[in-house]
Amino acid sequence: MTMKELYEIAFHAIKPMKLKQYGEAGQVACALESGSGRIFTGVCADLPCSLGFCAEQAAAAQMLTAGETRIRKIIAVSEEGNILPPCGRCRELISQLDEENIHTAVGIGEGREAFLEELLPDMWDRREI
Ligand SMILES: [Zn+2]
Repeated sequence: MTMKELYEIAFHAIKPMKLKQYGEAGQVACALESGSGRIFTGVCADLPCSLGFCAEQAAAAQMLTAGETRIRKIIAVSEEGNILPPCGRCRELISQLDEENIHTAVGIGEGREAFLEELLPDMWDRREI
């Protein structure tokens, strides 16, 4: 699957909704291609008191629920259609799910992608002890 096809799946998974009080969800959606070639999606949740989760985390949780850990490609898209590079926490999360995820292709902008290892140089768990 191309990154453009993955983008389309993520874009169609966007589902903005208001939650209790000031909470919102679904303004950003993520699609990932797993090691087996299956596609998993997830949406973000922004809640008061700094609670919530990123769309990448929701998609990764779906993948883990299906018993997979390897991510070949991943992309997150805003409701405006912009590609959002993963935050630092999500970069770290992706890297810790599977040894091979350092080679995950990550959508970082229109027509632009990078391998996770380029987004996480000098990883803390790769150092010589
Ligand atoms: Zn994140």
